[in-house]
Amino acid sequence: MNETALAAARHGVDVRGVITDKVAGDDGRAGWYDSGVAYFVAQEINSYPVERMRELAVHEVCHAVGGFPYPHDLEHWCCMKRDGEVGYPPPVTVMGQWPVC
Ligand SMILES: [Zn+2]
Repeated sequence: MNETALAAARHGVDVRGVITDKVAGDDGRAGWYDSGVAYFVAQEINSYPVERMRELAVHEVCHAVGGFPYPHDLEHWCCMKRDGEVGYPPPVTVMGQWPVC
């Protein structure tokens, strides 16, 4: 998984990407991170365009940057922003303003 390897290198962490037939829970997640491995659900990512796949890979790699478990907090959002991949709003606002990383 090139996107995962490249993102991991950019962020200085060791993460490898694995494509799986497993599904995590019933929330339709396309991927998750666990102990140095970014898992991607085959049936979900099959239809992903390249940019969306890149964003997902960065998302999972950013779970590794702060150590596990690493939630969808501001630090996670800032990690994605550093990689130029922010596909969702920041998790918190400060006085109605988007936070500065
Ligand atoms: Zn996540």
